[in-house]
Amino acid sequence: MSETKYIFVTGGVVSSIGKGTSAAAMGMLLKSRGYQVVLQKFDPYINVDPGTMNPYQHGEVFVTEDGAETDLDLGHYERFLDENLGKLSNVTTGNVYWEVISRERRGDYLGATVQVIPHITNEIKNRIGRLGQDKDIVITEIGGTVGDIESLPFLEAIRQFRNDVGRGNVLYVHVSYVPFIEAAGELKTKPTQHSAQRLREIGISPDILICRADRPIGEDIRKKIALFADTELASVIPAEDAPNLYAIPLSLHDEGLDELALVKLGLPAPPADLTEWYDLVSRMLGAEEMVKVAIIGKYIKLQDAYLSVVEALGHAGGAHGRRVELDWVDSEMLTDRESVVQRLADADGVLVLPGFGHRGAEGKIGAARYARETGTPYLGLCLGMQIEVVEFARNVAGLEMANSTEFEQDTPHPVIDIMPDQVGVDMGGTMRLGRWPCRISPGTLAADVYDAELVYERHRHRYEVNNRYRDALEEAGMVFSGTSPDGRLVEIAELKDHPFFIGSQFHPEFKSRPLHPHPLFYGFVGACAGTPKGAPPEPVRRAEEQAAS
Ligand code: GLN
Repeated sequence: MSETKYIFVTGGVVSSIGKGTSAAAMGMLLKSRGYQVVLQKFDPYINVDPGTMNPYQHGEVFVTEDGAETDLDLGHYERFLDENLGKLSNVTTGNVYWEVISRERRGDYLGATVQVIPHITNEIKNRIGRLGQDKDIVITEIGGTVGDIESLPFLEAIRQFRNDVGRGNVLYVHVSYVPFIEAAGELKTKPTQHSAQRLREIGISPDILICRADRPIGEDIRKKIALFADTELASVIPAEDAPNLYAIPLSLHDEGLDELALVKLGLPAPPADLTEWYDLVSRMLGAEEMVKVAIIGKYIKLQDAYLSVVEALGHAGGAHGRRVELDWVDSEMLTDRESVVQRLADADGVLVLPGFGHRGAEGKIGAARYARETGTPYLGLCLGMQIEVVEFARNVAGLEMANSTEFEQDTPHPVIDIMPDQVGVDMGGTMRLGRWPCRISPGTLAADVYDAELVYERHRHRYEVNNRYRDALEEAGMVFSGTSPDGRLVEIAELKDHPFFIGSQFHPEFKSRPLHPHPLFYGFVGACAGTPKGAPPEPVRRAEEQAAS
């Protein structure tokens, strides 16, 4: 392939209409036709990254292999593309300005007045170009909706980009919403007309429109949109609500999106190989038997805050042919033993979510105790592993009032404590982040589910198991079945004499893919379903890990 092609995805009308999944689905479809594709997200906010933002407003902070704290759309990208992305795939106004201002202070622009155009726009274009170096197609999604003040420099940059790399190498895709108005009994195109118009005022004419709606969009409506958006009928792709997230690319494919994009970019359109995806979706939709997982967290109202966890459970469910029903449990409601038993009695499994801060900790500890004592499968994710250690220390190892210093500074037994290199650091981007190796002890549940000796997992934490208590906890029966290769950091803690009780200091949810469910989730859902535990039938580890183990 000689020249890299660029697809820019903008959004209109309202947010949350699935712009990110549309971009991700398009990436997956183009990859299925043999192209090397990479995805990128531009976020117009001033934060340097979303790491310091409240996930209950903004949704999950997704962590990449190279330790970037990124927008949750990168999770969609990785899951659909089935590839790892890195730092360069998430660009914010904050990190663009950071770079330009640092350069200004170094004196790189001596004599010049530093301005949005060209300095900021050049830096944005530079981020697009760098990503495209060894790829056939770069898909860049611009966060927010057209008309937001914050996104203007990004839109200006992508407008200029077409002239820089040649018209035939760029495609503008606009994802819009076509609402059904009950009183009129029809779908309305006006909001889409307006957002396409807004784009044109900036100098961008959409080449393809993806129109989201809660029902089929008839040809008359599509014609109207085409007319106002200054494009042809075939370029207006209807995207009705899909029965399952992973069915989205399949319906976009049926509507001809990938073929159209390739034709417009002047690329050959070899057939798409989607067999595995069709199988996956029919397995997921066809699953009748159900397992019920109680998901314990502090704020559970915005479930997007735990998007990757939800997806990972779905992937594992799909592989087991089970529908996973999620029962969201607010840990602050688990105030005593009785409320725990009552609330969790019909759960097939208990999962304690990642989290920060002391609120709701006692309820989570109660849930871990319930799972341990009743033989209910337990999966602890990051904070969920720390909770499991605190519970075990208090109620089995006899370390009365043991706690994490994150919850209680003056606990007599700080079984979870802040990592020495985390004391007094700034809050942004300074946790233990990204990919680190973990050595698995043979003969353990971890070894059983992973079927590997060395794995690489993604991290995002400041606290860890306090090594001073490791012997006492092990003597009482806790097994530290995964550690850093030097043995210094506990990565996995599990229990003997329990059907399935395990927690990880890392976040396995970030590495689960629809076609490759994560071993821990696969094992957990299998245990919830009562099927024999063990390694999944499909290879679930990435190639680099297989090479390393
Ligand atoms: N608050 C805990 C820590 O910082 C756990 C973090 C998490 O669950 N991501 O170590």
